[in-house]
Amino acid sequence: MLPDLASTRADYESFKARGLKLDMTRGKPSPEQLSLSDAMLVPQGNGDTTTAAGEDARNYGGDLRGLPEVRALFAEALGLPADAIVLGNNSSLALMHDCIVWALLKGVPGGERPWSREPSPAFICPVPGYDRHFGLAEDFGFRLLPVPLTGQGPDMDAVEALAADPAVKGMWCVPRYSNPTGETYADETVRRLAAMRTGAPDFRLFWDDAYAVHHLTAARTPLAPILDLCAAAGHPDRAFCFASTSKVTLAGAGVALFAASPANVAWYLARAGRRTIGADKLNQLRHLRFLRDAEGLHAHMARHRALIAPKFDAVLDALERRLSGTGLARWSRPEGGYFISVDVLPGTAARVVDLAKAAGLALTPAGATWPQGRDPEDANLRLAPTFPSLKDVAAAAEGIALCIALAGLEARAA
Ligand code: PMP
Repeated sequence: MLPDLASTRADYESFKARGLKLDMTRGKPSPEQLSLSDAMLVPQGNGDTTTAAGEDARNYGGDLRGLPEVRALFAEALGLPADAIVLGNNSSLALMHDCIVWALLKGVPGGERPWSREPSPAFICPVPGYDRHFGLAEDFGFRLLPVPLTGQGPDMDAVEALAADPAVKGMWCVPRYSNPTGETYADETVRRLAAMRTGAPDFRLFWDDAYAVHHLTAARTPLAPILDLCAAAGHPDRAFCFASTSKVTLAGAGVALFAASPANVAWYLARAGRRTIGADKLNQLRHLRFLRDAEGLHAHMARHRALIAPKFDAVLDALERRLSGTGLARWSRPEGGYFISVDVLPGTAARVVDLAKAAGLALTPAGATWPQGRDPEDANLRLAPTFPSLKDVAAAAEGIALCIALAGLEARAA
């Protein structure tokens, strides 16, 4: 039933009068989640710095791809071949950045020239999406081409039409528990991405499986194996895969990884070997000692889930109570990942963020989920419930639902 404007405004004013100060802007783990990994920070004994190969992890040396025993752990947990994996330092975003810069300056396997020599290179951007992906490509001069997400991944007819243009060099994908919609690409979507005809012979999927193991229910949502499907479709070099333990162990001090075909791995290592003698092996060992194996990693993620699933429920409850049946908003019910995506009445998202700010609630700026930070419909909001305490999330969710209702009712009355 539609609430009336006057009583919603009165509810909003009394919420504002509470003088709260809450932040729901970025998808950061809470202090309690970070503390789940405190044991990793206990100083290691002398013997503990020895790798499986008997080498001293404190020193230079070893395989530039990282410790084989750690690559094996992530291979199993992420469903990737261990041979395809190269471990980096703490940030997968930094690896994506390196790949883009190297592609621009050097080109990639299968390409005719460096991407910087293309007259007007472009990236396909499923929307709503991750602002840092878009900002990275934009900063290096790529045109950003939005394509809508459907609940099963991107609209593949639109993707195939755009990818036929030789200027289109790449595409951002968060294929599992996508940021922010929470959707996982359907098998058929993944198959079409692997098999589609591209105008550029060196087209790359930037396949960011950042939320691969971040389940919010007991089910572990599977994802079709992109490297296998690309190889089977005759495009073995199409995907650059990325992941990290930023939201598994420590968000500022995890282990990131790159995974791809043999030709792409050789290309990556040739560049990486100029950049570094090797990544932080002690951190790789710390992760191995702490997580132990893939099942240990999944058990650890279940402890995260116990902390954050109630926060997602609190937001969904508030949206349901205030907005269900009103036609003023639609929202995702994610089964994993870090976000809830809300579509409000077109033209009201920025107003919701302003109303929230005036009531002491910091939300991700409206438009942040679109290229250039501009949502043409001014409709999408990204909610990040993990960082604040459950009590604060519940209070913030009530306020957000009120702001959405008030902005929507104002717009309807205008
Ligand atoms: N990719 C996605 C989709 C993310 O949401 C995030 C972090 N919020 C990152 C990458 C950043 O990961 P990292 O810490 O490994 O750089």
